[in-house]
Amino acid sequence: MNNIPRVTLRDGKSMPQLGLGVYAISDGDEVSKAVSFALQEGYRSIDTASVYGNEKGVGRGIRESGIPRKEIFLTTKVWNNEQGYESTLEAFQRSLERLRLDYVDLYLIHWAVEAKYRDTWRAMEKLQSDGLIRSIGVSNFQIRHLENLFQSSVTKPVLNQVELHPYLQQYELQAFCSRHTIFLEAWAPLSRGRAFKEPLIVELAGKYGKTPAQIILRWEIQRGIITIPKSSNPARIQENSDIFDFELGQEEMEGMKKLDQHYRIGTDPDNMNF
Ligand code: NDP
Repeated sequence: MNNIPRVTLRDGKSMPQLGLGVYAISDGDEVSKAVSFALQEGYRSIDTASVYGNEKGVGRGIRESGIPRKEIFLTTKVWNNEQGYESTLEAFQRSLERLRLDYVDLYLIHWAVEAKYRDTWRAMEKLQSDGLIRSIGVSNFQIRHLENLFQSSVTKPVLNQVELHPYLQQYELQAFCSRHTIFLEAWAPLSRGRAFKEPLIVELAGKYGKTPAQIILRWEIQRGIITIPKSSNPARIQENSDIFDFELGQEEMEGMKKLDQHYRIGTDPDNMNF
């Protein structure tokens, strides 16, 4: 079953609005089984990164799934200590070798390393024009990072992958990005479980016969956000994609807004030092 909607990125490429995140899934059998299972269940997008240390297993999972490569949307990211022009070109080659693929659908700058991200971006523009990357984007960029990037870049990012969940709703960043036709993509979209007991979410779960995780993911989809929940558990991988047979009402979407606490689980991009 593949009923996951797709969005069209500013460069004309299309991308599934829901994918599988694989952060903290071990390389080897664990990640390749999760990836292969998700693809067989209808997922078509996988989100990894060089720093996750599991690109080899992700590539293996893609091959073992039996799903044609051209149907799959694979994202990986350049890590902070790999940034800069030449070193990004090299880092990208290492990712391709580990994945055993000949192109990547989406390559992201993992964090805005102040002294380097403009050079990193130039390397990504080159890799894209060489046909090795289909789309290029960023992650953990604040408005000021994007404005700065626009000054020297030829191309704008197609998306910005940031922490986003009911406790960190990112409406201001979403409005800025949408003015520049940049999608927001949610990492930690399930708030790693922290919002599962929130009374409104529990109430909506009861009303629609869904789980709190499904209510949260549905809310993100209806906001036009791309979401990549992580699970290595087959039942939960299935559960997280079973969200396209119901719709939250306008008032329910408004009610969810009240849960925002501007609360970050991860690092604040304005204070990162790694
Ligand atoms: P998530 O919010 O996706 O939460 C993942 C956790 O929730 C896991 O412990 C998982 O456990 C559990 N879980 C998953 N589905 C369910 C469910 N239906 N019910 C109950 N528990 C569930 O957090 P992540 O940090 O993993 O974010 C998702 C992805 O975003 C990452 O995997 C990665 O690809 C990306 N990411 C990007 C970052 C960046 O800086 N760009 C930073 C962090 C993440 P289990 O596996 O046992 O199901």
